[in-house]
Amino acid sequence: MRQLTCTAPDRVEWLEVPEPRLESDEQALVRPLAVARCDIDRILIAGLIPHRGPFALGHECVGEIVALGDAVRGLEVGQRVVVAFQSSCGKCRSCAAGYTANCDAYPVLSDYGMQPLSGVEYGGMMSDLIRVPFANAMLQPLAPSLDSVSLASVSDNVLDGYRAVAPHLRERPGSDVLVVSHGGPSIPLYAVQTAVALGAGSVDFASVDEECLALAEKLGARPLRTDFGRRPRRYGIVVDAGTTAAGLDFALRCTEPEGIFQSVSFYLTPMPMPLGKLYTLGLRFFIGRCHAAALLPEVVPLIERGRLRPGEVTTRVVGWDDAREAFAEPAIKLVVERS
Ligand SMILES: [Zn+2]
Ligand SMILES: [Zn+2]
Repeated sequence: MRQLTCTAPDRVEWLEVPEPRLESDEQALVRPLAVARCDIDRILIAGLIPHRGPFALGHECVGEIVALGDAVRGLEVGQRVVVAFQSSCGKCRSCAAGYTANCDAYPVLSDYGMQPLSGVEYGGMMSDLIRVPFANAMLQPLAPSLDSVSLASVSDNVLDGYRAVAPHLRERPGSDVLVVSHGGPSIPLYAVQTAVALGAGSVDFASVDEECLALAEKLGARPLRTDFGRRPRRYGIVVDAGTTAAGLDFALRCTEPEGIFQSVSFYLTPMPMPLGKLYTLGLRFFIGRCHAAALLPEVVPLIERGRLRPGEVTTRVVGWDDAREAFAEPAIKLVVERS
C-alpha cells in the first residue's frame, strides 16, 4: 500500500509498504478517508525533533472500518469512525481514570505518525490502511450526517483545544477567556470555538498572525493584535498555545490572581517559569497532553448537536494525490481527502 513518509528533514515521499493485518481479536483495520495535519507535523517534517530514520505521517483522521477482530463489540465493517491518535487499551488503571494518553499498556508517546518522538513506528494515517490495536477503546463512530473532512482533526487538535477550556469553564462558568497563539495555529482556534460555544464571558485571541486573527474573529473572538509586550488586561482563564518565551510571559502576565493558566504546548527546549509569581498570585498552572480516547465520547456528540463546528477552522482541502506537496506547505489547517 502507499504511505506518505518523511524520509529526511523537509523531504516527504510516497513509499510502497506492506499492508497491516489483524494480529488480535480486539483490533480493527481502518481506511483513512480524510486526514488532517496536526500542528506538530510541520515541526516533525522539518527535523526540529531529530529524526531516527524514515517515519509514517499523519495522526488525525476519519476513516472507514475495513476489518474487525472477533472480540470487538458495537462496531461494524463499513462504519465511519474517528480514530484516537494515541494507542490506549481502555482497560488498565490509567485508561479507567481517563488518562488514555498514558495507557499502562504502552510506552509514553505511542502515537500514530510520531516515530521521531517515541522511536516506535505505529504507522501513519496518510496511508491506505492503519491497524487499530484496541478498536473498542480507540474508535468513535460518526453519525451519517457528519462530514468526514470537517471532522478529520477530531482525533487530536480539536480535542486539545476543547480540553484547554472546557473543564475550566465547567468549574468557573462565565469566566473571561484569553487564548494566546504563538506557535501551531489550529489548536488555539479550536480553543476559541470551545470557549464561545460553552458560554465564556468574553473570548479574546492574542497573536501576531493576521490570518489567525481574522479567523479567530470569524469564530466569535475579539482579535488582539500584539507583539506580546504590553498586557491588555487580566483574565480568569488563559490558554497558552505556543513555544516562545515572550508568548509564555505575556500569557502569564494576563492571568488574574487565583486564575487558571493552561498550557497546551510541547516545549522543545527548557522554558523560564517564574514560580515565585505563580506562588504569590496563586495562579493555577495546568499542563499535559490531551487524553484522546477519553475525550472522543464527550466531544463528538457536541459536534453532532452543532455546538462545535471544527470544519470552520479548516483553511485548505486537497486530494490524496496532492498530499505530498501540501503536507510541507503552510496552512492553518490542512485536510487531505481520499479521492
Ligand atoms: Zn498531534
Ligand atoms: Zn490502558
